[in-house]
Amino acid sequence: MRARTVVGNWKMHGELASNAKLLGRLRERLADAPCRVGVCVPFPYLAQARDLLDGCPIGWGAQDASAHPRGAYTGEVSAAMVAEFGSRWVIVGHSERRSLHAETSDRVAAKAQAVMAAGLTPIVCVGETLEEREAGRTEAVVAEQLDACLSRLGAPALAEAVIAYEPVWAIGTGRTASPGQAQAVHAFIRARLGAAGAGATVVYGGSVKPANARELFAMPDIDGGLIGGASLSIEEFEPICRAFD
Ligand code: PEP
Repeated sequence: MRARTVVGNWKMHGELASNAKLLGRLRERLADAPCRVGVCVPFPYLAQARDLLDGCPIGWGAQDASAHPRGAYTGEVSAAMVAEFGSRWVIVGHSERRSLHAETSDRVAAKAQAVMAAGLTPIVCVGETLEEREAGRTEAVVAEQLDACLSRLGAPALAEAVIAYEPVWAIGTGRTASPGQAQAVHAFIRARLGAAGAGATVVYGGSVKPANARELFAMPDIDGGLIGGASLSIEEFEPICRAFD
């Protein structure tokens, strides 16, 4: 279902005391946001997110989940375990997982499938490196990443997920895709989903800040954002969540 959506990716940041303050402020200041709001926290803080956000419209979730339902996979966390904490979202295929943990597009697709099987919404990240963009390969790279999910899930199911277009060169670099660059890839993603594309939620991620969120979210195919660094500060995250006309 297409819906305005802004989700924070805390990455490997946080500690109980500072999380409590941030979660409390999210609850106070974003319960009436003009979009779906979520935070994806490190696994150990899922219970804290549940305890401090329960009963308000802000959702929470994790930044990864195993492709396997259970078993001898030391260190992995299943989607069903994440679901037990009342979670709504799970990020899969973040470029840091693809590059630092060698996750292939097929592995990402298997994770998205496992997340859906647990009744949660995967936020499937796709995006090209700077080298790939400069070689004119943006669409080919994004197509390969999406097609793995399409062949496992089918377009109607993928349209029920969230797709996050995150150019790798824009993540944590302060270098944002221009609204036009982002819009072009978002339109390409929708087209790749065929008839289901019009109903899909497609968000942009990569150095979104209060100063650039409004012009990005005003693009016709951009439904919101996946926010890294700026999600750690209520002063930055709140205006981003409100940057819709
Ligand atoms: C991210 O980690 O998904 C991200 C978009 O990070 P940042 O907003 O810090 O670029």
